[in-house]
Amino acid sequence: MKKEPVDFKDIAVQNEKLVITLLRRHGVLSQTQLRKYSGLSMSTSSSIIARLRGKGYIIETKGVSSKRGAKPVNLSINPGGCYAVGVELRTDSVYAGLFDFNANLEGDILKSVSDKSPEAVAAAVKETVGMLMADYPYAASRTQGIGVAISGSIRDNSFVVLSSPLGWKNVDFKQLLSGMLDIPVVIYPTQVRMFAEMDIESPHRNMVYVNIGNGVGSHVILDGHLCGGATGRIGEIGHVVMIPQGKLCGCGNRGCLETLISGRAIARRIREDIGKGLCQPRGFDIENCDLPETVIARWSEMIAAGDSYGVALAREVALYLSRAVSVMVNICDPQIITLAGYVAQACFEHLKEAILETFETDVYNYSERSIKITKARSGNLALIKGAAISILQ
Ligand SMILES: [Zn+2]
Repeated sequence: MKKEPVDFKDIAVQNEKLVITLLRRHGVLSQTQLRKYSGLSMSTSSSIIARLRGKGYIIETKGVSSKRGAKPVNLSINPGGCYAVGVELRTDSVYAGLFDFNANLEGDILKSVSDKSPEAVAAAVKETVGMLMADYPYAASRTQGIGVAISGSIRDNSFVVLSSPLGWKNVDFKQLLSGMLDIPVVIYPTQVRMFAEMDIESPHRNMVYVNIGNGVGSHVILDGHLCGGATGRIGEIGHVVMIPQGKLCGCGNRGCLETLISGRAIARRIREDIGKGLCQPRGFDIENCDLPETVIARWSEMIAAGDSYGVALAREVALYLSRAVSVMVNICDPQIITLAGYVAQACFEHLKEAILETFETDVYNYSERSIKITKARSGNLALIKGAAISILQ
């Protein structure tokens, strides 16, 4: 059998990653503890520590010892050891943020963009990155890369096959942007927003992230890998048909989950019910709201006030979602389910309660599983933080 050559450089990089991961997980470790947790020999661990210290990624502090003699040396991550920029391309703006080695936000900038051509958007990204580097000069030489999150179908972390919100088709955005900047650039699909919901030091290995906003979709991490599928369409939970022959969905089919629980669908339903006299939102000023986001915000106030219509609608939404999520659990076997988007924010407790109740009857062998349901906490930062973490990892 032919033997593969041993790649010593690759082993060294893997060992450096291992040490960084252990320090992130434990916070502070002595050299002895680090050797114990990593299984590395004294000479290997010493040379890795020296290299990481030289790069400024870790710092040493003197520990305390009850014994006489030399005090132990403690090691920890240097948050300022390196930085990454996360960028989100929105339909009308570019949003960029600078994150330190522990994925904490240093500063962010939002810039309006009226011209959506790739060249104009790339110029806007260059400008926002330049502004961040000028505002945080200490990070300029230590920024490892720029992660750009784009809604659409992305190939090889560089090529935009299709982005409907931006109106782009077959755009090599990485090449375009790399030609303007002297920092490495990586293009990511919006799935990276999931990373913002995990602890950078101990990411979940099996997770389903459900976003309920203007649309309904989900992202899946299985065995530590962000899944894409044959055509990048994994996790289209919003297009699971709940009511055959139901309302027409934007996808062309009928009765999809999205036609029942998306922000737009709920806002439309509330307006219709007001017209029919079924919903009487006295004091909530819901009649004059235009955007689905504001209608849902008012509905959230109705739920909190115990309004019977508002609560009944929340229970209905929760029941539909819980059935679809149960199917995902049977198929994907996650350890955590994170609910994101403005609808999930509006009625999270109702959704969680219904999902847990439905699991009892709809999930195979539920008693043998341990599944946590959490509310997304990153809000507007989700995409830029997720893109930056992808660079820092
Ligand atoms: Zn659909």
